[in-house]
Amino acid sequence: MNIQPKTRGFICTTAHPEGCAQQVKRQVEYVKAQPALEGPKNVLVIGASTGYGLASRIVASFASGANTIGVYFDKAAEGSRTASAGWYNSAAFEREAAEAGRKSYSIVGDAFSDEIKAKTLDLIRTELGKIDLIVYSVASPRRTHPKTGETFTSVIKPIGGTYSNKTVNFHTGEVTTAVIEPATEDEIRQTIAVMGGEDWQMWIDELQKADLLTADATTVAYSYIGPEITHAVYREGTIGRAKNDLEATALRLNKQLGATGGRAYVSVNKALVTQSSSAIPVVPLYISALYKVMKEKGNHEGCIEQMYRLFSERLYTGGETPVEPDGLIRIDDWEMREDVQAEVMQLWADLATENVYEKSDLEGYRREFFQLFGFETEGVDYEADTNPEVDIPNLR
Ligand code: NAD
Repeated sequence: MNIQPKTRGFICTTAHPEGCAQQVKRQVEYVKAQPALEGPKNVLVIGASTGYGLASRIVASFASGANTIGVYFDKAAEGSRTASAGWYNSAAFEREAAEAGRKSYSIVGDAFSDEIKAKTLDLIRTELGKIDLIVYSVASPRRTHPKTGETFTSVIKPIGGTYSNKTVNFHTGEVTTAVIEPATEDEIRQTIAVMGGEDWQMWIDELQKADLLTADATTVAYSYIGPEITHAVYREGTIGRAKNDLEATALRLNKQLGATGGRAYVSVNKALVTQSSSAIPVVPLYISALYKVMKEKGNHEGCIEQMYRLFSERLYTGGETPVEPDGLIRIDDWEMREDVQAEVMQLWADLATENVYEKSDLEGYRREFFQLFGFETEGVDYEADTNPEVDIPNLR
């Protein structure tokens, strides 16, 4: 069939298998061109099919020669519906990994469930033995608690007062004001239940109980802090409360794994175009301004560059992992540099519909958004007849 993008709000409901494969290949090539790492050898990535999780899996496999298991929530093609981008990405990743002689396996399903945890543990036992790195990179709007059966929904809202700031419709370039009413106590509780640390803790507990971790195992989850202008809706809002919980979980896990020489971290990453970040009001406009400034300064990074730097300059340096006094790894250091933020804020003050393409990299944002789904990618013939049905070689 002929596959073209179909958007509904900030999601794209189609994906292109060859475009996704090209995007994965580009990331693999980037990593292959960097120095190899003395890093992990058997890696579990939870939330492995897109964004930061996919990039972590690629770095582990191609910089450190690791065997990997990816757990993710994606859909195969069915009838006239294409598969989701994460499905095509993972199929492409597994083909690349096999070619390079690395083992890789996929488990598709709800990482929050007991069933998927048990299935993953069985697979580790039979195929990898023990795991020395667990990356937790799930971003989800919903979670059903495995013990109580309650389904929680996460929201992105401020706490205590109404928030308003500029936002953009990145399809049309229209800059308007987003006004977001404060969250209720119950919405805060539910967002923490979805995006906080409870599930990460459950995974580590299960892995430890089953004796499937090496004594010096490392685990890392991802967080975001960002600029003052988004604090009320992000860092000091519902999602920030969830990130506080995630960060508190890291401190607990660091003690738990530290007893045998292991370690746990939260890494604060840069704001980037991913399926998750495009759903947050204000953030796409901020990212567009940030991209303009960082591209001009020559220090712009995407997911793969961020994750290679996280592995090579933070997690696997051969010595101590540099952390802040609060225990956080900061790989958002270039985003948060004073000169970068000062220039972004200068642009921000003026941003309006009339000048958004000139004063921000909205065109770059829009293109990257479509590239997440395999569109607007060089070397792909979008007029060609394309088979949407793609197998993931080692799907269990
Ligand atoms: P993403 O949407 O690209 O990826 C999310 C992953 O989670 C996908 O692989 C998806 O399949 C998986 N997933 C979702 N629900 C699942 C479920 N129930 N079971 C199994 N897998 C599931 O998101 P991302 O932006 O890469 O975010 C990953 C982490 O990085 C999040 O913690 C996010 O807060 C953090 N982060 C993101 C940014 C950013 O700007 N994008 C910046 C800093 C930190």
